[in-house]
Amino acid sequence: MSGYKKLLERARQLHHLYSAVALMEWDLETYMPKGGVDSRSEAIAFLSRRLHENFISKEMGELIENALADPDLTEAQRKNVLIMKEDYEKAKKLPPEFVEEFSKTTSKAFVVWQEAKHKSDFSLFKPYLAKIVELNIEKANLLGWEKHPYDALLSEYDKSATTELVEKVFSTLKEQFVDFVQDLLDRENIDDSFLRKYYDKQKQWEFTVFVLKKLGYPFDKGRMDYSEHPFTIGINIGDVRITTKANEYLLGDMLLSSVHEMGHALYDLGLPTEAPGTPMSESTSLSIHESQSRFWENYIARSLPFWEHFYTALQGFFHEHLSDVSLWKFYRALNKVSRCPIRIQSDELTYHFHIMIRYELEKALIERRLTVDDLPHEWNTRYKAYLGIDIKNDAEGVLQDVHWSHGTIGYFPTYSLGTFYGAQFLFAMERDIPELWQLVREGNFTPIHQWLQKNIWSHGKLLTSEEIAKFATGEGLNVHYFIQYARNKYLPIYEGELETV
Ligand code: ZN
Repeated sequence: MSGYKKLLERARQLHHLYSAVALMEWDLETYMPKGGVDSRSEAIAFLSRRLHENFISKEMGELIENALADPDLTEAQRKNVLIMKEDYEKAKKLPPEFVEEFSKTTSKAFVVWQEAKHKSDFSLFKPYLAKIVELNIEKANLLGWEKHPYDALLSEYDKSATTELVEKVFSTLKEQFVDFVQDLLDRENIDDSFLRKYYDKQKQWEFTVFVLKKLGYPFDKGRMDYSEHPFTIGINIGDVRITTKANEYLLGDMLLSSVHEMGHALYDLGLPTEAPGTPMSESTSLSIHESQSRFWENYIARSLPFWEHFYTALQGFFHEHLSDVSLWKFYRALNKVSRCPIRIQSDELTYHFHIMIRYELEKALIERRLTVDDLPHEWNTRYKAYLGIDIKNDAEGVLQDVHWSHGTIGYFPTYSLGTFYGAQFLFAMERDIPELWQLVREGNFTPIHQWLQKNIWSHGKLLTSEEIAKFATGEGLNVHYFIQYARNKYLPIYEGELETV
């Protein structure tokens, strides 16, 4: 057997182990009896450590070297092995003891965070967060960095993201976007009260499944279930599942979050299948993952052509509340920009204020310019400045997100970067498919799948986020597309144009 084939064989075996862990995680989050949760979590932690040890083993290093010496490698195969080597060298920088300490700290922190959020008491979570910040500083130093320790943390989620890039993007937003959104916030001329009536959970579920099928989520290669926090999980090739959550007093919440997860799932399902467990068959970054989920959620499912196709069906499901509501009125309500303290409930514009706030605080913590003692105050001050909101308590403030309890610092910026990549893809797609919106109006989403397959999904991890953007759009990340998108869409919404639709 050639060196390359031997490496693929080993990667495939590790991928099978990963599949087992993924299925255990999916079960943990969906259906398993509560009594088994502790033991299951322990089993998952144990197997995850084994997977990490296997991956950083000497044997794996030799397999990689032998594969590189294989004379018959194609260019793509060589690249596949080189990126795997990069991942291997990087993973080796984190000693198993560090990984274990990190994982022990975060599993405790997660439990404490839940309690702290429930009681709305940051002081309970504070010592754990302080430890998590220290561990992240140590992690950055172990991984190594040149310009900024935060770079090392960012690169865990997106290799081509740097503090410099995030700074540049957010400072453009501050110059050209923040005032525009704050002006929309002051207008308060959109009524969305009808979205906040009672909408039966089962009917929302049925409508969501109906839409997902139309959009092309293949239910023979995935499924949808309820969970506490919506997520997507790839079990193995040909099985990528999503979950959702019902909100009976906010129409749109369940649908949009399911479409978001579907975007993640379509990306995973569209990755090349020939080399499981190697970069060729993996997604490239969380930024590109979010570019896919937020593309479907915001750019498609919050668009007017989308609702020109689906609104009559939605009215059929919820005749009692929507029969008198025009399509235009519905579309405006669905896109209302509002002062919301909660990131995951916010509209697609103010969403980025939430991310900027988290980024500023994380960076200051990693630079030790800020301690966790000052965090609630700094959080609240920024919410006042960006959104004009007085944060009422820690639960709706500094404790709202799960991420820090999981130990993930450097993750939040990928949500914004992903959204901006997504807007850039949208403009390129409009260029390549001039009849795009007519197709959406007709409910034909196949050309969108084909475009994403060719330009994004087919590259696996052989191209970085930046390289994918260049391939698909001719340039690296450019936030101006998103700013342009926001102006094109929101001025008509707020200035009452198209009132006749
Ligand atoms: Zn997502």
